[in-house]
Amino acid sequence: MRSLLSTGVSRLLIDGKLVEGADGVFATVNPATEDVLGYAANANAADLEAAVEAARTAFDRTGWSREPTFRARCLEQLRTALQAHIEELRALTIAEVGAPAMLTSGPQLEGPIADLGYAAGLAETYHWETDLGIAEPMGIKTHRVLRREPIGVVGAITPWNFPHQINLAKLGSALAAGNTVVLKPAPDTPWCAAAVAAIIAEETDIPAGVVNIVTSADHELGALLTTDQRVDMISFTGSTTTGRSVLTGAATNLKKAFLELGGKSAFIVLDDADIAAACSVAAFSVCVHAGQGCALTTRLLVPRAAYDQAVQATAATMGTIVPGDPTDPRTVCGPLISQRQRARVERYLDIARTEGGRIVIGGGRPAEHERGFFVEPTLIADIADTATVAREEIFGPVLVIIPYDSDDDAVRIANDSPYGLSGAVWGTDTDRIRRVTDGVRTGTLSVNGGVWYCADAPFGGYKQSGIGREMGVLGFEEYLETKLVATAG
Ligand code: NAD
Repeated sequence: MRSLLSTGVSRLLIDGKLVEGADGVFATVNPATEDVLGYAANANAADLEAAVEAARTAFDRTGWSREPTFRARCLEQLRTALQAHIEELRALTIAEVGAPAMLTSGPQLEGPIADLGYAAGLAETYHWETDLGIAEPMGIKTHRVLRREPIGVVGAITPWNFPHQINLAKLGSALAAGNTVVLKPAPDTPWCAAAVAAIIAEETDIPAGVVNIVTSADHELGALLTTDQRVDMISFTGSTTTGRSVLTGAATNLKKAFLELGGKSAFIVLDDADIAAACSVAAFSVCVHAGQGCALTTRLLVPRAAYDQAVQATAATMGTIVPGDPTDPRTVCGPLISQRQRARVERYLDIARTEGGRIVIGGGRPAEHERGFFVEPTLIADIADTATVAREEIFGPVLVIIPYDSDDDAVRIANDSPYGLSGAVWGTDTDRIRRVTDGVRTGTLSVNGGVWYCADAPFGGYKQSGIGREMGVLGFEEYLETKLVATAG
């Protein structure tokens, strides 16, 4: 793969070939500098049509779905090839996503590449058949075998915030399970996906049509994928609002829709915790990647008696986090992805002020950056847990601090949300921690700083944060159908 940073223009991957987009190209922008990085192929409906047809043909007419050992080898090959290009990919990811360099050794790049090895392992070791033994339903002696099979053509639609993590988690599980894929990445980060496309085409034995990657400036392509009758499943990660449209589109032929959506997760500090230390962790984590993480804990719940101390400790830590150049290895908080995203965050800050919130720290653009879509780490206090900024996903480095009166009250506030994606609890007493973790209705929970992100750990949401789980065995099984074969005798 020749680095996109030097060639300046990326292509689509359709039926094994790297091709230009029928609608020309669109610009991809460095969010830290606002400079145009280069151009991505702009696919239209005809390109999508060709991609879906290629995926359908590869699924129906090749042995891909029946060759798990070959699939495992291809995924290992992909992992090795991506690893061989790691420094080019790192530079590209920092430039296109505005991802702080430090995150590229984890979930922004190296983590998801390594996790392809886990997916490859599953293809080889998974028990595709379970013998349910003999039974005599309705008096007929029958031997029952449960088989797991790939679903077919998967339409994967992804966001821009952790593009490699999400693109590769979907590709890894879907391919390991034996499906073929059409991936439509977000218009803000086409090159991250296009770089993977080039490596698949040029450096792996993944057969033509098994993976198709269509970049486009037009969100409509995602919508078309959801309604396409030849697609058997949609694997979507993005906002809850778009998730609803995806579900409606998928309903046209009742295809399976697997949804990873938004969040407004709570960080609960129990009164037996080291309040200052816990608040400092909460302040730090909401600033990571400028708050552009679905699972970040954006509501900080603290005991009312320790509220002032908690506000002070949180603000003190936020004050030390200076939004900076993402290429600097010390940067934690880079830019937001786009002008549109920054305008969205600033609109929420205005709403907070209108609703009577107190901006304890931050609330504007950092003076030291003339260019780039930066926003200051911001703490909002003295606002009701029912306020807009305490309920809606902001997707910026913005934390809302809310007092609670008892452990039960903390759980009540945490659960008083349409979302249920993640959360954190800090405390000392293990019984109390157990009661709180039992009570919070959410897909992942961190206790005293524990990390749930791992290849073998399923991730996903309760309530309007999603349907299904990504990663781990459960994530892999999302991409499987179940067939029961009952043989008499
Ligand atoms: P988004 O919903 O705007 O877009 C996501 C993808 O959907 C993009 O590829 C977009 O082009 C496509 N799309 C837009 N309209 C569509 C439609 N009508 N039908 C089909 N596809 C359509 O989200 P975003 O702004 O790119 O990403 C941020 C959101 O993603 C946040 O809400 C965040 O919480 C969520 N997210 C969730 C997870 C998770 O695992 N739960 C992970 C990362 C991001």
